Amino acid sequence: MDPFADIETSQSENANSFNTGNSNNSTAGTSSSASTPSRYENQKRRDWNTFGQYLKNHRPPLALSRCSASHVLEFLRYLDQFGKTKVHTPICPFYGHPNPPAPCPCPLRQAWGSLDALIGRLRAAYEENGGRPEANPFGARAVRLYLREVRDLQSKARGISYEKKKRKRAPPQQQLSSAAPPTTSGDDA
Ligand SMILES: [Zn+2]
Repeated sequence: MDPFADIETSQSENANSFNTGNSNNSTAGTSSSASTPSRYENQKRRDWNTFGQYLKNHRPPLALSRCSASHVLEFLRYLDQFGKTKVHTPICPFYGHPNPPAPCPCPLRQAWGSLDALIGRLRAAYEENGGRPEANPFGARAVRLYLREVRDLQSKARGISYEKKKRKRAPPQQQLSSAAPPTTSGDDA
């Protein structure tokens, strides 16, 4: 009788906006249809402000123009203290368990998916705020490598596969409709 009873999503508490299953959520959160585009934009602006704040509080203060990949990595590590994702260490008995049955003292970190999305937004924001693409520290190789490292580490520690790569698996329609006539050389009489 209550049509809205099922709307609440359970179980996503610890998953940091990431379904571990195969559901087809886009990680960027850009559901282009229907919803307003401002949600992504708002998040991007907030991220950009956070990073600006970080630069301002940096000792010594850091100008955006001098910001390098290593500062970006520093920023990502700094964010880990606010993380909510349990990342088991190899000596933890729950290492590799997606749903541990008991608490453990392993550290909380930023989930890889969150960092990956964050970097994407900051990378765009950097250029929208006048940064030159070729100098974009968020697109630096070191940052990509770091994210890949975090992904591998967390997928092992949490027993979660992040494989979402779109491989060219299904080739686009192999229908040679009229080109090749079927080779049925049956009996014609
Ligand atoms: Zn643990």
